[in-house]
Amino acid sequence: MGRPMTVTRFAPSPNGSLHLGHAFSAIIAHDLARDCGGRFLLRIEDIDGPRSRPEFARQFSEDLDWLGLEWEDVQAQSTRLESYVEAAERLKRDGLLYPCICTRAEIKAAATQIGPEGPVYPGTCKYRAIDLAQPHVWRLDVAAALQKTGPLGWSDELAGEQQAQPETLGDVVLLRKDLPASYHLAATLDDAADGVTLVTRGRDLFSSTHIHRLLQALLGLPVPTWHHHPLLLDQSGEKLAKTRGSPSLADRRLAGEEGLALAADLRAGCFPAGISCG
Ligand code: GLU
Repeated sequence: MGRPMTVTRFAPSPNGSLHLGHAFSAIIAHDLARDCGGRFLLRIEDIDGPRSRPEFARQFSEDLDWLGLEWEDVQAQSTRLESYVEAAERLKRDGLLYPCICTRAEIKAAATQIGPEGPVYPGTCKYRAIDLAQPHVWRLDVAAALQKTGPLGWSDELAGEQQAQPETLGDVVLLRKDLPASYHLAATLDDAADGVTLVTRGRDLFSSTHIHRLLQALLGLPVPTWHHHPLLLDQSGEKLAKTRGSPSLADRRLAGEEGLALAADLRAGCFPAGISCG
């Protein structure tokens, strides 16, 4: 039997226009699949309630087309809520989720550890009875989960073999107050459902993978390989962001810039003035 076909994906959230960093990320995922005859998927991560806008999602296809990429569309996250509910029910039945009513400010005040995604939840609600009539989130009991799975490893094409350390992020939220999912649960389930074999995304999401690997073990999902690529940085060394006014791909496209030339430059590591890769 030969190696399984490589399947990569680009999974933007339609809460703003794409910028150069997204183009860089999409090109990497596209080329990794193309170079070995694999498939490149576009998944719209649109579960962020009112922040998700369909007009941005439409723009994304035009942007990728302008860059000369070819992709397959897969189902947007908003159409997959049932699968998230089902997985969460399973984790609840296994006693691995607990409800939490703490506010952000309470967590900040009580946390004794800062993890890669901010204050690590100190477990306050794990040890008290919660009235489920109050608005609440559901958190993953990482210690109980790890006890069930034992030590786990994962592999990144660039960073090498990793030991899963979900405890560094703590008991993350798996079900939000307003939604039967969170990024961690939805992305992990979707990657499995879409048959993604190489999860390609920016290094800023590296630490999330510790949680995703744990979820895969708990839910019996296939384990892909990861490729966390370097990020494009602005002049102050910050990653490019939708919110910090770096010109969007749509702006560049509408201003008449050549998408194919831009894609060639990004592939060659030639970045516009003031932008570096790190
Ligand atoms: N939707 C996420 C974002 O736009 C990407 C998630 C992922 O690639 O796993 O930042």
